[in-house]
Amino acid sequence: MALRGHTEPALRSSLILLTAIFVCPSRPVSAVQAPDRLLLVCFRYDDPSAITPTELERQIIDIFRKFGAGHTFGVVPEKCGGDERSPNGKEPDLPLPDSKAAMFRDAVREANLEVALHGFHHRTVRVPLWPPTEFEGVPYQEQLARIRKGKTFLEERIGATVTTFIPPWNTYDGNTVRALEELGFSVLSASVEGTIANSKVRFLPSNCALGDLRSAVASFRRSSARRGVLVVIYHPYNFVESGEPRGWCRIKDLATLVAWCSEQPEIKLCSISQAGRICAERSASDGPFANARLDVTGNVAVDKIFAPGTFLSLDEPGTKRLLASRKLLLAVWYPGLLALPAIAGFVVIWTASRWRAWLGAALVWLTVALFFGILGYGTRHGTMKEKAAPVILACGALAVGAWLATNRRAAHRMSHAQTETEDDA
Ligand SMILES: [Zn+2]
Repeated sequence: MALRGHTEPALRSSLILLTAIFVCPSRPVSAVQAPDRLLLVCFRYDDPSAITPTELERQIIDIFRKFGAGHTFGVVPEKCGGDERSPNGKEPDLPLPDSKAAMFRDAVREANLEVALHGFHHRTVRVPLWPPTEFEGVPYQEQLARIRKGKTFLEERIGATVTTFIPPWNTYDGNTVRALEELGFSVLSASVEGTIANSKVRFLPSNCALGDLRSAVASFRRSSARRGVLVVIYHPYNFVESGEPRGWCRIKDLATLVAWCSEQPEIKLCSISQAGRICAERSASDGPFANARLDVTGNVAVDKIFAPGTFLSLDEPGTKRLLASRKLLLAVWYPGLLALPAIAGFVVIWTASRWRAWLGAALVWLTVALFFGILGYGTRHGTMKEKAAPVILACGALAVGAWLATNRRAAHRMSHAQTETEDDA
């Protein structure tokens, strides 16, 4: 079972925690300072489109322009109207306006901006399954046509070749990779969980959140790695200036972070396609920069992942341990998610109905109401939100456990009563 970039935060943080437990204590942190250390840092700003704040994007471009630093925007050619998680939305699509396209075109020429293709409409094609996707499971010819249309759309407007593809919700499949190869893309940047095909396309997934960058760099320094790549993902909604309630970062914080990066001797700020080229050149002359496929974001395991001369090779012992720990956690997570609430429901109702039968019955109805309430709330938009799925499952298990307890209690009472009747007789 593959986890995606947009999976439940609880599961992700558990994975990171478990990884820390599994991976970290095994080797003392070395402080080797090789003279030729190189950490490529690619800022990947996802989602700019007709509906994202243009002024914010202008300011982001200006920050990188000041340092002459390469960076990447994953642009949506024709953003869908309405809810992007509803596949049957009828609202008209919103093509990238000419004025914004012109701003990007100038930035590509003068400010070292790379425009990458980020889907076409950024609308999911499936319900109620998560994660949403615009590509995964879609027939090859359809994917090919959609990606070709998006590439042509952007290239005509920005006057530059588009060679990096960022699938919406980081979801794609082997057919996406085939289509990218066919259309001359050189890099696919999704999340670290995606499938890796044997392909000419290079995989540089986002492996670092904006808020984790400094600690990831610190981990790189503590490690013996000579080279690494960090693809730092961020979105319009991360910014307070976007007006979104979940905004936590101000544009001046980004300016400070980029300025800090530019002062670090081993960091090279570059776009994703530039990183792809550097990896290819270095691999030829200086050992492999392997395709990336797994990450642990932040400060947990960067030093284990960045082995000398490689970026995230699956042959690395650290990566093997990481894979093993993830498999183990997945094996425990879902059974645990069902078993623990079921046991809790059973025990509580068993105990309560022993004390007062009516209390047991009332609590059972409460768990059933809770289950349907949460089910209704979690699917109120016609799709099941990814965060809702585990909560709904756990509530369902709780209700089943509770229901089993009342049934057992009733059977128990009945046999007890029967015994008493027999005794009386
Ligand atoms: Zn997106």
